[in-house]
Amino acid sequence: MRVLFVTSEVAPLIKTGGLADVSAALPLALRRLGDDVRVLVPGYPQVLTALESFKIEAFFTGIAGFPDARLFASTLPDGVPLWVIDCPELFQRDGGIYQDGNGNDWPDNALRFGLLSKVAAILGGQGSPLDWKPEIVHCNDWQTGLTPAYMHFSPGSAPCVMTVHNLAFQGVFPPQAISELDIPAESFQPHGVEYYGNFSFLKAGLYYANHITTVSPTYAEEIKTDALGFGFQGLLGARSSSLTGILNGINDSEWNPANDPALACGYEAGNMAGKAANKRELQMQMGLTVDPKMPLFGLVGRFTHQKGLDVVLEIAPQLVASPAQLVLLGSGDATMQSDALALARQYPGQIAAVVGFDENLSHLIEAGADIFLMPSRFEPCGLNQMYSQRYGTPPIVHATGGLVDSVVDCNAATLAQGAATGFVFNNMTAPDLLRCVQRALAVYRDKKSWPALQLNGMNRDFGWQKSAAKYREIYASLLPTG
Ligand code: ADP
Repeated sequence: MRVLFVTSEVAPLIKTGGLADVSAALPLALRRLGDDVRVLVPGYPQVLTALESFKIEAFFTGIAGFPDARLFASTLPDGVPLWVIDCPELFQRDGGIYQDGNGNDWPDNALRFGLLSKVAAILGGQGSPLDWKPEIVHCNDWQTGLTPAYMHFSPGSAPCVMTVHNLAFQGVFPPQAISELDIPAESFQPHGVEYYGNFSFLKAGLYYANHITTVSPTYAEEIKTDALGFGFQGLLGARSSSLTGILNGINDSEWNPANDPALACGYEAGNMAGKAANKRELQMQMGLTVDPKMPLFGLVGRFTHQKGLDVVLEIAPQLVASPAQLVLLGSGDATMQSDALALARQYPGQIAAVVGFDENLSHLIEAGADIFLMPSRFEPCGLNQMYSQRYGTPPIVHATGGLVDSVVDCNAATLAQGAATGFVFNNMTAPDLLRCVQRALAVYRDKKSWPALQLNGMNRDFGWQKSAAKYREIYASLLPTG
């Protein structure tokens, strides 16, 4: 199958979260299964400077409402073909890919991701300037949400799959954006792109895509409820027969403790000695007291309400009194950032906090910590809890979304079955998280159970193969028969 995979970020070129990891790993896994998958991304400076070579493949001029653009053809480091939209006016700028240096959304985001959506639709439609014609266009999150709408209004286009990585981000713009983006005015209604009086890219994608997927089976159910549907629950309930939850995999060559270049020392199931060297390295780098016996908790992720960082900060004093140590890496909410740094100052040697994005440090935390914290209020899939299991660092997770689908709670029965891989708590409150922390510490001190728990997680298969095969089934179901 020929699949155009459209995304606003792809690792290792440009990454703000899990979407970038999936956009690298899923196309690769599909290609290994024999499909011809190509990735389309915007030409941000980080992408263009990372390309070793490229060739100009097409010009897009005179598209109503959009500046002129070019299409570059190149490849990702792992060999997956890459197409890059070169449009300096929209993509060549300092700051983040969605926001300026002050954390404000770029004012022209509708146009920026409208262009990404439009180019994808052109490549998937009858008027594509390329010889290579996709049989499926696979869109990801709101930034590509207009593609299914454009393709719906362009007869003869390929079928479209829309994957929701996080329903909390909806690409909402004022209604007038619709006329600037060349979307037919009649689609501004509940059966179309309208979203509570505004215009939503994600709504367009969810409404017009031929099939919707999201990144875990549990999240696929949760987004049909009032609690986690973000106002889309009615539409998603109505589209239930075209909605599938497929658990993300991980890139298990990049996230492999046996040969991870970011680690102080490699290790693997059956040969865990190196894990202690990573703990020591992490404690030293972070200015924590170097103590092999002191339980060390780690957290990597966006500092947001979604990720439950506020609750972690709330229990941090009791956690370190257990006694234990805590290392935090992430960025996001300004108050949470300064609260995390203040705690680190207040508890020197026991709490360390790094505000920023640091790929190498995130790997070292996965390897050097004893227990990983991921108490997300909601979590479409989550990757860190899978990385941590692979690295022999059992995670503590809240019972939500992909966390439920990827972590088996440790109790006498699951330990006896060899199934337990971490700790799951039900109520997202500080006392419940703290109780779970104490439960994990009790197992940590049990010299027989802890290694068994670590091994169960390390031996699990979190690779992409099975999930990629499920995406193929969905693609195949959308192709014309006969
Ligand atoms: P989300 O996509 O909601 O942010 P995921 O767990 O799905 O959460 O994926 C987050 C990805 O980004 C993981 O690969 C994680 O390690 C990485 N990540 C998040 N914050 C940081 C950070 N501050 N430094 C390094 N990597 C980070």
